[in-house]
Amino acid sequence: MFFKRFDFLFYGVLALAFSCQVTSHKIKPYISDKTSATLPNLILPKQYVTFQVVKVADWEASLAGLLDLDDPKAIGLKDRLEPISIYFYLVKHPKFGTYMIDSGMGKNFPKGEDGKSLVSSIVESQMHFEKLKVYETTKTYLQKNKVDVKGIFFTHLHLDHTLGAYEIDRSVPFYVGPSEVTSRQFINLFVQGSTDRLLGEIPNLVQFDFGKNSNEIAVFDFFGDQSFFILSVPGHTPGSLAFYIPAKGGGHLVLGDSCHTQWGWKEGVTPGKFTTNAKLNRKSLDFLKQVAETHEIQFVYPGHQDRISTPLKK
Ligand SMILES: [Zn+2]
Repeated sequence: MFFKRFDFLFYGVLALAFSCQVTSHKIKPYISDKTSATLPNLILPKQYVTFQVVKVADWEASLAGLLDLDDPKAIGLKDRLEPISIYFYLVKHPKFGTYMIDSGMGKNFPKGEDGKSLVSSIVESQMHFEKLKVYETTKTYLQKNKVDVKGIFFTHLHLDHTLGAYEIDRSVPFYVGPSEVTSRQFINLFVQGSTDRLLGEIPNLVQFDFGKNSNEIAVFDFFGDQSFFILSVPGHTPGSLAFYIPAKGGGHLVLGDSCHTQWGWKEGVTPGKFTTNAKLNRKSLDFLKQVAETHEIQFVYPGHQDRISTPLKK
């Protein structure tokens, strides 16, 4: 008994000692206390942004990672590889310019511009990169479409969302949610080097600080004109972000990886093993469901599958 307890303590201390941040790059805080706990019921933007989703790649991932298979609604579902996709999104504001959500994928990934592998062999062995079917790479897409990116919002810093970051100009701010970088976890020991390389040399990393407990949900009107709302939805990772973008004829709700799949959204089942804090992810998914019920929404975008049309309420 003593030894078991000792082991538990020993490994606990060891895990704590080796816990580290998801990236060792420095951050600048973006401090704002102008957040609210909920999305306003009545949203009347002074102007609308244009919103676009770009499919970057098709891929496959473990269903037990994408969905909590212990959820009673998931009865009968077994772990297997599930078809998924990788996306980035473009948010074009008439006055402030174009922003991206997530970073797409760099050319020749997983090799970088210098031909060296961007991810460690342990990460590569776990991520089935051989199954990636790539349609668009970030720098080429942005040049081809003459997009001058003013900033990137990361839904979170899991590797599959940072695969194109190193191709972005170093001056462009990379915005992440509260505590996304500054929280420490044991798992980061295995991914930090890869995340560092994918974010590229000295990234302009900016971490939102909404002046409250980072476990709390927060809503932030980024441009201050009700055209684009950042939803701080912790759980999947400490600083996971979702987005609500008002549009004529119904808005867009970008879930990030608070919900990866179409089935997960329809059934209200949270992600499984890919999520850091299941309890907080549950709370955040319930909040997003409530946003969808109380606002006119045209499309809901799960983190890794195609958007879902939502019937308008009127
Ligand atoms: Zn993801």
